[in-house]
Amino acid sequence: MSSTDLYSLNLAVSMQPADAAQEAPTRLIQRQIDRGFVGLRFMPALEREFHGYLRQSSRLSRASLIFLAVAGVLSSALIDSSWLGLPFELVGTTRLIQFTVMMPMALICTLLCLRHPSSRSMEVGILLLFAVMVAGLLGQRVVDSQQGFDLPLELIGATAVAMFCLSRVRFWVQLPLLLAIAVVTVLVELSLVHLGESGYYDMFATGILFIVALLAGYSSEYTIRWTWLNATLLRYLSRLDRLTGLLNRHALESALASAHAHALRERKGYAVAMIDIDAFGAYNDHYGHQYGDAALQQVADALSDHARRPLDACGRYGGEEFVLLWMDCGAEQSRALAESVREVVERERIAHAESPAAPWVTVSVGLCHVDADRTDAPIESVLREADRALYAAKSEGRNRVVYTRYRSGVADENDETLPLAWPRKTHSGTR
Ligand code: GH3
Ligand code: MG
Ligand code: MG
Repeated sequence: MSSTDLYSLNLAVSMQPADAAQEAPTRLIQRQIDRGFVGLRFMPALEREFHGYLRQSSRLSRASLIFLAVAGVLSSALIDSSWLGLPFELVGTTRLIQFTVMMPMALICTLLCLRHPSSRSMEVGILLLFAVMVAGLLGQRVVDSQQGFDLPLELIGATAVAMFCLSRVRFWVQLPLLLAIAVVTVLVELSLVHLGESGYYDMFATGILFIVALLAGYSSEYTIRWTWLNATLLRYLSRLDRLTGLLNRHALESALASAHAHALRERKGYAVAMIDIDAFGAYNDHYGHQYGDAALQQVADALSDHARRPLDACGRYGGEEFVLLWMDCGAEQSRALAESVREVVERERIAHAESPAAPWVTVSVGLCHVDADRTDAPIESVLREADRALYAAKSEGRNRVVYTRYRSGVADENDETLPLAWPRKTHSGTR
């Protein structure tokens, strides 16, 4: 399976060219599934994509975490002295900690979340929120204990559980912070807090909550990774042609539609080539369908090398017909590419004893180039013109390229249909 064709998939997930050039995404994902990921780490190319997905998909849970922090601080400020029994003399310092340390951090996170919900700084903000909330609670505990009031230590454990369940920051990134917080909490408890009768029990219960946080964080990230891998694999597979590994008809049509929209918006010229294997019915009759399939795959591989840029596309239109799309491509360049497609298939030298065009497998190519200021031409018309050019290539003897063009400054579309606005050029091949 070629990898370049996959770049033109308009998926949320797309591999970086350097990695995908080494291995096709579907194989990479399958290998990762087989290999497992108990260490919560994928191979580099997948890991990078996963980070992007994790940030994108974390908005809701991060927003709910921040809401929980703001609501927690506000509601305890409203009810702590009346319902929770906070002594009057502690209200001042408690409010000071709540409103100068905890609340500002929660508000900074809220602002970050509103402005950059899926950025790296959001992750840093979330971790800081975790640290500041725990520091605030510990500070309150120290001050409260000096007045004989026992603020529940379990609040720190609950904060850790909320972080690991809702922050969607990767487990290995959060773990060092949690361990540091655990150590600091134990040191503060033993040195600065006057432990009450149930002091050690409270530490024990908080320790259990920390372990719950760890387990929940690990298992939820594992599940997210598992789901992402399988969903990504399915998304790729559903858009690929099974035999050739190129885009299937459905994916090709959506790639063409989005490329056309892009070309229209950006006023960029593009070209569509329709490629058809010559005398392929005769090839099947002579060599059998299994060899026919192998030849199709070989031709498809050769074609896919010609769709290199992110918005280019290469797909199987049906049977032994393929379509190549070149975005932001000049007329001359597209002609050279189409000629190179024809040559490259011929160079494969796949023996074809029954072809009227050559002793090996060849293709005919119909090319339609659209100039930048003619991009308002519907993509269906462009395809139809490429098809007509292909038909002309066939009737002129096969194994050649025929060009047509939506030429700049020619308003009437009827002028553009064959006979061609661009002086027709044919190529008689290398024989
Ligand atoms: P032309 O040069 O005019 O294109 O002749 P042709 O024989 O290639 O065209 P035609 O449309 O008559 O035949 C296309 C053949 O392609 C028919 C079919 O057997 C073959 N074909 C289509 N899809 C597949 C496939 O998936 N595997 C194999 N082995 N053959 C296929
Ligand atoms: Mg054919
Ligand atoms: Mg055909």
